[in-house]
Amino acid sequence: MALKFLSYAASDIGKHRSSNQDSGYSGYQLYFVADGMGGHAGGDIASAITSQRVALSDARYDSIDEAVETFKKGILDANSMLSETVKEHPELEGMGTTFSGMLVQGDQIITAHIGDSRIYLMRDGEVTQITNDHTFVQRLVEMGRITEEEALVHPRRSVLMRVLGDFQDDPEIDIALYEAKVGDRWMLCSDGLSGVVPPDVMERILTSNVPTEEAAELLVGEALEFGAPDNVTVVITDVVRPAVQSDLEPGARFVGSAANEVVIEEKRGGKILQLLNPKSLFELLQVPEDPAEYQPESEELLEKILAETKRKLRWRNARTIVAWLLIAGGIVGGLYLGYLYTQTRFYVAEYNGQVTIFQGIREQLGPLKFSQPYQVSDIPTQDLSPFQQELLQRSISAESLEDALRILSQLEASLDE
Ligand code: CA
Repeated sequence: MALKFLSYAASDIGKHRSSNQDSGYSGYQLYFVADGMGGHAGGDIASAITSQRVALSDARYDSIDEAVETFKKGILDANSMLSETVKEHPELEGMGTTFSGMLVQGDQIITAHIGDSRIYLMRDGEVTQITNDHTFVQRLVEMGRITEEEALVHPRRSVLMRVLGDFQDDPEIDIALYEAKVGDRWMLCSDGLSGVVPPDVMERILTSNVPTEEAAELLVGEALEFGAPDNVTVVITDVVRPAVQSDLEPGARFVGSAANEVVIEEKRGGKILQLLNPKSLFELLQVPEDPAEYQPESEELLEKILAETKRKLRWRNARTIVAWLLIAGGIVGGLYLGYLYTQTRFYVAEYNGQVTIFQGIREQLGPLKFSQPYQVSDIPTQDLSPFQQELLQRSISAESLEDALRILSQLEASLDE
């Protein structure tokens, strides 16, 4: 049975970046995200060049083998284009991009992945991340040297071990094959989503029945809710029965940086590469550098990152102890202030058979008392009326010491009646 794929791509610059270096693509047979990195303007150019090159593979092929080969070749060609571009424009050195995508052939899906963008599959209500991040911290997680939680907050979590760019001639791309199934929901995203929105929030949206477009927009909306420190890009692809009607007709749609045109201008005899509609260089210089970078795989760097994690953990432990001391101090201080407050209160009750003014409050907290006799009068309670005695049993609260003295004199006066 031929299946139908409904797809929608959404991208947002986020709240702290002045350019969107992410790209997303929702096409006929092909869907992907690419998260650019490096330089002030390099990241958006890298993800745009890659997107526009790989999108050329968006077609039906005669065999699955041919599809795999063409898909992979498109990605490797993009890698070569990035190296060549850097050769011509040394100012772009260090630019690169992640790539995570899926190419549909009949009811089979080919995934291709390099970097730390991610592919998730929601099937039968279960959400599974089907890609591994090509980062040093992820490698340390796999080796059991650090925990997932430590990886999430590690300052070097964006250091990539594998990425497209001017780093390697033949980078290793993870390729996998899946059977498409009606009801499957695929999500491709940049780390501006997966590193920002908690997994349970992501899963709630992916397992909900909201339409394709709404799911993508909701996810980007959540990243913005959580502060969106980075560009965020999401492509949702739903597998549905052919009879399902939708406004989402297949078409080649780019979002993010790839939605701009990459142009090379001749200027003063040299070539200048730029994106149409880019931010001005001045604006780009205002933002902190993207922490994403590429480092070739090495034992040395793994050890260094591990040492940093341990140092950071020690710091965090020290910080935790200080925080607890502050909290404990706060509780003790709060209780003391509370006690001081009770001592501004007065009430009238019986003490050793005499009407007495008490300072504090009558309430007790276990063995703790917050009041003591302040002034014992010479009025025996038994001389009072039964009603007055009953009131005293329950205690008569006073606004202030003056008020308590007034109550006392009223009781005294009533004796003379
Ligand atoms: Ca990113």
